[in-house]
Amino acid sequence: MWTSVDFFNPVAMAIVLGYCVWALLLQVTVPAPEVTGTQTETGHVPVYKDNGFRCYLITMVGGAILTYVMKTQYGVSPTIVYDIYGDIMGFLLWFGVVVCIFLYIKGHVAPSGKDTCITGYPIYDFYVGTELYPRVFGVDMKVFSNCRFGMTVWPILVMLYALKSYELYGFVDSIWVTTVLQMAYITKFFWWEGGYYRSIDIILDGGGFMICWGCLVAIPSLYCAVSFYMVSHPVNLGPVLSLTILLVGLTSLGLNYLADWQRQTVRATDGNCTIMGRTPQFIRVKYTLQDGEVRNSLLLTSGLWGIARHFNYIPELALALSWSLPSAFNHLLPYGYIIFLTILLVHRSTRDEEKCSIKYGHYWKEYCKKVPYKMLPGVF
Ligand code: NDP
Repeated sequence: MWTSVDFFNPVAMAIVLGYCVWALLLQVTVPAPEVTGTQTETGHVPVYKDNGFRCYLITMVGGAILTYVMKTQYGVSPTIVYDIYGDIMGFLLWFGVVVCIFLYIKGHVAPSGKDTCITGYPIYDFYVGTELYPRVFGVDMKVFSNCRFGMTVWPILVMLYALKSYELYGFVDSIWVTTVLQMAYITKFFWWEGGYYRSIDIILDGGGFMICWGCLVAIPSLYCAVSFYMVSHPVNLGPVLSLTILLVGLTSLGLNYLADWQRQTVRATDGNCTIMGRTPQFIRVKYTLQDGEVRNSLLLTSGLWGIARHFNYIPELALALSWSLPSAFNHLLPYGYIIFLTILLVHRSTRDEEKCSIKYGHYWKEYCKKVPYKMLPGVF
């Protein structure tokens, strides 16, 4: 267990930088069909290689093989990552800032396109980002920091922490419940990564400190805190509690996926689909791009999007609570993620409403009349 932080531990630096090189190589070499993101106000349509699920699978299978070889052939366990976790985070803290300074300067001197978001207030620009879609040698830096780094390091750490727990105590049901739920959530994320390119992180937030540093640093620390805590605080849940929490968590995951699927399907089919076995109800909307071009779209008002305007955030929170509960109630640390996520999603729902209200004008008002609640009917 680490007790002090070395910000320049060469082993920690080699692990992080080695992983970055691996992730970049996969991003560049793993083939996949192209998908497009949301058209920006300047009319630009970002194009992505939809190789997230493949990169994730290759990394996890490669990691499992590496673990087996290290343990059986060399007697070394990759759970060394747990032992020097403080140093890894110490390095990431300043490495993340260096990456963000680079992106800030890049947005000024060599922007990747017309979608710059420079206000002239340096601190604000550094925080939010100077470009919406910064690319370096064709690699989208937001996809790299969010998906290839943050979202992929998360399952690697969760599995390593479960392994560390196993090395210390043998099978402990609670850490496996939280591991299964987090792994199911992350696997769903990568299965759906093409849809993530149309989410608020990507279409609204620039490539700056908030998103890029957040994904490089907050995901490996805050998001993984439950599993990290549970290595040193094993809890025995018993089969009934374990299965109940698993069931609640997996149902929440299914609902969250269904909400994302409904929103995308109704638009992709122009309403020619069924939502929960029925013909979908929606409002046909128009919005205007910066160059004056008028575009059409749909706002779904039935299915899960008829319950509340951001009902999808409720199962997201229920799932996060499900994988936090197995840690019991002796410390606040394992609940750091769910507390953070609650604040983030409530704030995010407000930001999204502002964005949609400006974009859709009176159509948005019509939607709010039909679906009056933001997240939870009768409450908020
Ligand atoms: P949402 O899935 O809530 O989508 C919001 C966007 O969808 C709006 O900006 C609008 O975009 C469009 N939209 C809004 N209402 C409708 C409607 N009725 N019908 C069709 N389209 C509509 O965005 P998020 O990016 O917040 O969430 C994506 C996923 O990521 C969710 O599953 C969420 O739970 C998850 N998430 C996870 C987080 C985490 O840290 N764990 C953080 C945040 C989100 P347009 O301009 O295209 O109309």
